Amino acid sequence: MTGLTVSNLTASVAGVEILKGLDLEVPAGELHAVMGPNGSGKSTLCHVLTGKDDYEIAGSATVHGTEILELPVDERARLGIMQSFQYPVEVRGVSLRMFMDEAVASQDVNGDAIDGLAPQFGVESFLDRSVNDDLSGGEKKRSEIYQLAVLQPTVIMLDEIDSGLDIDAVRQVAAAVEELRSPETAIVMITHYNRILEYVQPDRVHIMMSGRIVESGGPELATQLEEGGYDEVRRRLGIDEDAPEQPSVTPASELFTDTPFDS
Ligand code: ADP
Ligand code: MG
Repeated sequence: MTGLTVSNLTASVAGVEILKGLDLEVPAGELHAVMGPNGSGKSTLCHVLTGKDDYEIAGSATVHGTEILELPVDERARLGIMQSFQYPVEVRGVSLRMFMDEAVASQDVNGDAIDGLAPQFGVESFLDRSVNDDLSGGEKKRSEIYQLAVLQPTVIMLDEIDSGLDIDAVRQVAAAVEELRSPETAIVMITHYNRILEYVQPDRVHIMMSGRIVESGGPELATQLEEGGYDEVRRRLGIDEDAPEQPSVTPASELFTDTPFDS
């Protein structure tokens, strides 16, 4: 099977199980949305797949058929498993172009894309500036998506790339996400708002609750969710969450957003 296949994945931190038997299949060439309330484990899924080693893990995750859960972070990156928000908050003195030259060399991909893809993502003027320096929230995200596009990943995890963005920026970021699509790439777009899905058309939508995918369907599932909220899903599926939702820890991604978004 090409793309990403996750089977019965569990992940615990300090004895607390966060992912509780998660199944997810994202074929190469497709873009899937994962939607879930705060604290349902969405960011943890990203961290576990990219190799952050804070977790006790069981189950399976394969990329193009290769089991990845035992692999160190750098090997996963070489296999092309990447997420947005990969670089430090500021890399003063290192231009985006220098940063990309390094990244392209380590991933062994064609460096022509550094200039070649810049216009498509509207980042030409960022190339000779320090990475992430003085960019607006939307510009940072466009820059990150551009970086992913240059590196041609096999699996891309986008964790709430729409948070903190004004509506015009959401539209631009959505367009950039659509540009990321490629027949070789499986894209997982994590979001808890329906908003970006007005501009990005996912092939499938998955609803995640309490560490599991509880429902999967077409794009209409997102619309349904918008109407009834997660409570309606809980009622419909008879999910009785034993513990109240806890506020989630601030994922690193949130550190990059400059305006809180809470409507
Ligand atoms: P989401 O991204 O869906 O909001 P997270 O994956 O960030 O959810 O978190 C899921 C749950 O796991 C939350 O209750 C959070 O507090 C908890 N959690 C995540 N990471 C850790 C950690 N390193 N230590 C303890 N608890 C954690
Ligand atoms: Mg999160």
